[in-house]
Amino acid sequence: MSAYRSPFERLRAKFEESELECPQCGYFDGDGGWRVTTSGSRVQYQFVCPSCDAVETRELRL
Ligand SMILES: [Zn+2]
Repeated sequence: MSAYRSPFERLRAKFEESELECPQCGYFDGDGGWRVTTSGSRVQYQFVCPSCDAVETRELRL
């Protein structure tokens, strides 16, 4: 049994724990509904606000 977690896994966990609030309308998504897409060494998190359709995108580099 190992407690090792890769830097990416730690980042991801931190991300998914963070609360999600729309910067446009303040809609709060307690479920943290990030959509995750990965391409090469980049991970893109996208959140589409169900209230005002604003798109919030964050990008992480591995
Ligand atoms: Zn919104």
